[in-house]
Amino acid sequence: MSWNATVLTLFPGMFPGPLGTSLAGRAMDRGLWSLEARDIREAATDRHRTVDDTPFGGGAGMVLRPDVVDAAIAAAVPEGDQRPLVFLTPRGVPLRQSLVRQLAAGPGVVALCGRYEGVDQRVVEARGMIEVSIGDYVLSGGELGAMVLLDACVRLIPGVMGAAESAEEESFSSNLLEYPHYTRPAEWRGLRVPEVLLSGHHAEVARWRRERSEAVTRERRPDLLTHSPNQDQGRAGAPLYPADSPA
Ligand code: SAM
Repeated sequence: MSWNATVLTLFPGMFPGPLGTSLAGRAMDRGLWSLEARDIREAATDRHRTVDDTPFGGGAGMVLRPDVVDAAIAAAVPEGDQRPLVFLTPRGVPLRQSLVRQLAAGPGVVALCGRYEGVDQRVVEARGMIEVSIGDYVLSGGELGAMVLLDACVRLIPGVMGAAESAEEESFSSNLLEYPHYTRPAEWRGLRVPEVLLSGHHAEVARWRRERSEAVTRERRPDLLTHSPNQDQGRAGAPLYPADSPA
């Protein structure tokens, strides 16, 4: 059974974009996951195919209408579909590897991409969407956010990464940033690779890597050391999937 992604967007032509190349693209070709980009505008009912309107309470910009977004979801997502609905928004919970792992372990995801000022909050809540942000900056639309989310999930789908690309030791795998990497030549511009990595002593190498991971995490991201996966829920209630294991 493959992992299925549906993206609701005003710009379906942006997909698959980078998701059609490299690891994700090869996995798609092998049928390990699928991607469908649906045009929200197809759910508009008036002559001008209007999808947005001015915000109640005043202010700049336009807001995507709840009736149009709801109709777009109804048209794209079959009744009883178990996939979580994710709304990409700077107001959302930060996207973290623990949430990525939960999403990758499920049947797939339906991603809603906002544009303009965003989406009417009533449809976000009525549809039980998980509100997710990819970082503390404002993009012009949710499409790049959806691509980030999907790329992060797809590489964790069983069979997508080979042994050579294992996710076991990479950054965030145990709330730590990864240790630094080195390859040949052992000396470059007078800079030697740390001797322990040339020693062939596996236990020493593992200890050195662990220490470097802890040091860089303390220095750059001390918040990770106290992070709980429970902070990753974008809506009230239980984890996405009952069988979730903590990060
Ligand atoms: N008015 C919104 C705010 O201040 O939070 C920003 C709207 S932004 C111009 C338009 C759309 O881009 C958003 O609805 C969202 O879908 C997407 N977007 C922008 N920044 C994002 C981020 N950091 N993470 C996820 N989606 C983002």
